[in-house]
Amino acid sequence: MEQDAIFERLLHIITNYRQQRTTDCFVDYLEPDELRQRLRLDEDRGHGDWEALFTWVESYLAYAVKTTHPGYVNRMWAGANLPSVIGDIIVACTNTSACTYETAPVSTLMEKYMLATMLKLVGFEQGCGQMTTGSSNANMIAMMAARNTAIADIKNRGLFAQPPLYAFVNADAHYSMDRAANILGIGTDHLRKIAVDEHGRMDTAFLEEQLADVQARGGVPFFVAATAGTTVRGSYDRIEPLLALREQYGFWLHVDGAWGGAVIFSEELRRRFLPHLEDADSFTLDFHKMLGTALMCNVLLFNRHQDMLRSVCSAGDESYIFHGGENGEVRDLGTLSLQCGRRVDSLKWFLDWKFYGREGFAERVEHYLELCQYAEEQITRLPELEMVVPRESFNVCFRFCPPKGIAPALFNQQLRERMHLSKRALVGTGFVNGELVLRLLITNINVDKPEIDRFLAAVIEIGQELLQQKTGLRNEDTMRRS
Ligand SMILES: *Cc1c(COP(=O)(O)O)cnc(C)c1O
Repeated sequence: MEQDAIFERLLHIITNYRQQRTTDCFVDYLEPDELRQRLRLDEDRGHGDWEALFTWVESYLAYAVKTTHPGYVNRMWAGANLPSVIGDIIVACTNTSACTYETAPVSTLMEKYMLATMLKLVGFEQGCGQMTTGSSNANMIAMMAARNTAIADIKNRGLFAQPPLYAFVNADAHYSMDRAANILGIGTDHLRKIAVDEHGRMDTAFLEEQLADVQARGGVPFFVAATAGTTVRGSYDRIEPLLALREQYGFWLHVDGAWGGAVIFSEELRRRFLPHLEDADSFTLDFHKMLGTALMCNVLLFNRHQDMLRSVCSAGDESYIFHGGENGEVRDLGTLSLQCGRRVDSLKWFLDWKFYGREGFAERVEHYLELCQYAEEQITRLPELEMVVPRESFNVCFRFCPPKGIAPALFNQQLRERMHLSKRALVGTGFVNGELVLRLLITNINVDKPEIDRFLAAVIEIGQELLQQKTGLRNEDTMRRS
């Protein structure tokens, strides 16, 4: 009885929160010291006391970032699709681990169904896949598969007394590649960062030189990753020239589509941004980014390697937990995973897929691209703003142009902080060719043209405020000196 009332109260709180998730400010921002005091974390209230517990819940919500708010354009994800939120609530209530069929029968079948659907959609034949904890881990598992393919007995013998392995990625590739090289014993010095062309894509002539150089020195070029949508610029590495190089050097070709892989649902965008994807060896895509599924929701797919995940990931004596399937079919998805306990991510994935379908996701991604184009047009039109580099896809890299004599990097950094502290908007930054840019990402279904207009107007307003303050200070300075 008591628990039922508590659940009702919870639903009430959630409902209230959801009603305000796109209004007011996107955050009530406090510096850590002040927030710590307000939260009174060391107070001993809460033991068995539901009232006290709900005050913690209320303070969590009061200072949480409303990622659904249109002012939140900071990261590659924002808000979450309602079907996936439903899935996550059910998952929390049912609390199980998606490692065995016994403990997670429905989830296991849903995951397998979704993996088969994605393999087919991507065009990977005789493949396999798994949901991982995100593209960082997916990239690592892909690199691990490449490593174990390059040196057959590495799983038993390790990297001792082996020829040195080398991996190659776009100079702007995600930092998880460096992590993977570290974790897998490859070493970050053996991760060659390939310089990019003017579109931010790997320069394949330079890559070829590097491959030849490594091979000439007795190294093994075992892994090349194309990035489909680089973090800052949104550039798509071309896959076709890499396929030709793979013929020659025999490396594993992975496609990191964490961000930009979402184009696969739209035939037109796939043709434009990701031709030849079906010939890669592996591919990762985050559903929790552009597609809006609740964090975390990732899929990693292998082409033509039906047993690869099991041979790469399985380890030790698993007999106490995993029980084989029929006809060599995998029954327990945990055998393919680097985890033991696995959160059920498949329900929210499945619900989103059924609710929106391929067409729904295609429309969403196409619409985001149109909005990015709109934002670029506005930035080009507005005299206070400029694109730092032309847009490659979904990332809009721009800045406020201060007058001569004021360094744009520092100015835009300050502008960004001021936007945040004044609770107007949270926008990301990055570096392109050594220049600091404001990186606008549209990955929120509550953002449309009016929200973009409002955002850009806020950048200009705050930029001018900042400028006034700076020139005011400078004038005072001159006056004092004179
Ligand atoms: C976000 C991102 C990653 C990391 O993905 P997580 O799911 O956050 O671990 C890797 N690569 C690229 C290109 C990304 O955009």
